[in-house]
Amino acid sequence: MVGRRDFLRMSGVILAGAFAPACARQSGVLGPLWPGGDPFSLGVASGEPAPDGFVLWTRLAPDPLSKDPGSPGGMSGGDLGLGYEIARDEGMRDVVQRGSATAEAAFAHSVHLEVTGLEPGRPYWYRFTSGAAQSPIGRALTAPAPGAPLAKLRFACASCSNYEAGYFASYRHLAAENPDLVLFLGDYIYEYIETKRPTVRKHSDDVEPTTLPGYRNRYAQYRLDSDLQNLHGSVSALVTWDDHEVQNDYADRWSQDFDDPEHFLQRRAAAYQAFYEHMPLRPSRVRPRSGSLDLYGRFGFGDLLEFSVLDGRQYRSREACYAKPDHGGGHVETDASCPELRDPHRNYLGPAQESWLAASLSKSRARWNVIAQDVLMAQLRERLPDGKIGFWTDDWNGYPVSRRKLLQTIHDQRVQNALVLSGDIHSFWANDLKLDFDDPRSPTVASELVGTSITSYGLPYDRFAGYLADNPHVRFFDSRWRGYMVSDVTPERVTTRFQAISNPQDPNAALSTLATFVVEDGKPGPVRG
Ligand code: FE
Ligand code: CA
Repeated sequence: MVGRRDFLRMSGVILAGAFAPACARQSGVLGPLWPGGDPFSLGVASGEPAPDGFVLWTRLAPDPLSKDPGSPGGMSGGDLGLGYEIARDEGMRDVVQRGSATAEAAFAHSVHLEVTGLEPGRPYWYRFTSGAAQSPIGRALTAPAPGAPLAKLRFACASCSNYEAGYFASYRHLAAENPDLVLFLGDYIYEYIETKRPTVRKHSDDVEPTTLPGYRNRYAQYRLDSDLQNLHGSVSALVTWDDHEVQNDYADRWSQDFDDPEHFLQRRAAAYQAFYEHMPLRPSRVRPRSGSLDLYGRFGFGDLLEFSVLDGRQYRSREACYAKPDHGGGHVETDASCPELRDPHRNYLGPAQESWLAASLSKSRARWNVIAQDVLMAQLRERLPDGKIGFWTDDWNGYPVSRRKLLQTIHDQRVQNALVLSGDIHSFWANDLKLDFDDPRSPTVASELVGTSITSYGLPYDRFAGYLADNPHVRFFDSRWRGYMVSDVTPERVTTRFQAISNPQDPNAALSTLATFVVEDGKPGPVRG
């Protein structure tokens, strides 16, 4: 445990205010050494590129998995100043900005530095310093100026990285693709402890977190993984969450286990805060308050594309027809067993996010309008043993009225090239999004691409492959592979590769391309390339 006062006492120096920037400015003068461990053990990250800057992240954690709840990451005491530098080159020689950032004690000594004043549309390199300690050098990207012509962009999508289920070779291969951006679509951590299926490594505390110290240590453990840490250090991120950042299949205040909602909201607040503390999120835009966190947002990249990043968990109505044992979370219902499925008062995004999204999409002038979110949007009819058709209640299939409303907006507002990106379902899918899924003649109004899991166990392949005959809008499905998606965007088309690793239990797993799908400008629906 290193408190600020201890740190200064042990290093034998007394400095007023933020000492680290002073050290950084006086090159050649070594600052105080950090006793007890590398404060930058969790690495660095960048996110939310804007035309004039981005957010830079780190968290001081000399003892990252500290079991003392009073000293998260081995830190105690108040806010701490540290230095930062931003350069135009990898070697950090052409420094264009340096200054001081604050590691906030209230947020586990994490740093969320909003950098401005940079040139649009180019890479930068950065590092933090504290005393004699230096962070790894990270790479970050600024977005092109609004509306400026952009010829191409490469982004990758990751979701569902269960630490216990496998090694993060997917993250290593993803970083090696050199994407301009990585999108995390949820289930970045898993809260539960695996008890039934094979594991290759264990969550460090071997207990499901319900408190802030527990969630903090879960994130810290994931960030100690060198493949994930290197990915964050080399690629700027846009992030959203799904359920496992809090609890499996939760919806707003509703726990799958029927916990008292007031009690569950305390747990959710802890989980949301830990998420914020570990993600490169803009504090002026996203900051935990009163147990909630307004995560959804819009990110433009010149005239080429605009990302609408959604929050599919915080505002949704409770799962349909939950009031049966084991039905607090996702389960399969038919229209007959659960008329509530189509209750127009139920809502997936919540009214505020829903109208924000409709307004964003309607006024966008981008060539591609990418909706990045957590769960499967396409209808999935599941043929049950008795011949009836069921729907999974935890994804958009549990909220068909909200889905229809969004697709109607895309259709009516003539939103240009709507492309939905999804995770959660641990399998690759390429889908036509139909205006009305219940009418086979209905037009396709958008495309959906679903990435598989980084490591999380796949769906039973044979069972789901058996559903495809009832879902002609599904153009591709495969649940047998772990991996990610990488998309190359030009004004003419988006070309997406479904990237699969050979074996999640092998830290040196090889990579191959399972399939390629192309969406052409002006032609909704992914086509096999
Ligand atoms: Fe998952
Ligand atoms: Ca999920």
